[in-house]
Amino acid sequence: MDEESPYYLHHPVVPGEDRFASLGLVNTRFTVSHGTVDLLEDAEAAHLWLVRRALLPDPAPLAGRHLGRLLTLREALRGLFASREAHTAPAAGPLEVLNSALAAAPATPRLVWTAADGPRRDTDPDTGNPVAAALSALAEDSVELLAGPEGDQLAECGAPGCARWFLRSHGARRWCTTRCGNRVRAARAYAAKKGQ
Ligand SMILES: [Zn+2]
Repeated sequence: MDEESPYYLHHPVVPGEDRFASLGLVNTRFTVSHGTVDLLEDAEAAHLWLVRRALLPDPAPLAGRHLGRLLTLREALRGLFASREAHTAPAAGPLEVLNSALAAAPATPRLVWTAADGPRRDTDPDTGNPVAAALSALAEDSVELLAGPEGDQLAECGAPGCARWFLRSHGARRWCTTRCGNRVRAARAYAAKKGQ
């Protein structure tokens, strides 16, 4: 990361984003002191995000309608995360969005077998439809997160306006990053001082 890159790219990594691309997708929109940042603000930005996450081969272009689908998936995931945290069944809409993304370009399973590693299961993305394959991979990743043991750790950051989601590594953790925790503590200290 170079020194020229904007402030938000220096933001510490949110716990869980390194393991779950779907968590990273939800966190592409967040609030900083001067307003909302959207890492998927246009097709070019979204293309860069997908390539950086190794979800899309660089030469595959991203059309406006693809961006629309990615943003729809992001909002659906946000809703599903909230349902997971609240232990409630989600609305039909977000579930449908997720399942259609899965169905649009399912990866093909195959058996890879080498002398060194022995047999293992691998999946081939649908190369004829790279963007749909990327959305399908993100949807698949979210299924693993929502239906797996880590789903219990899903939490929304408690800092006002942050809107990021993270995996709560221990029960008491309330902030996505120490930066958010410090921000809240500083605001509390300021309010306490003012109230004296
Ligand atoms: Zn936060």
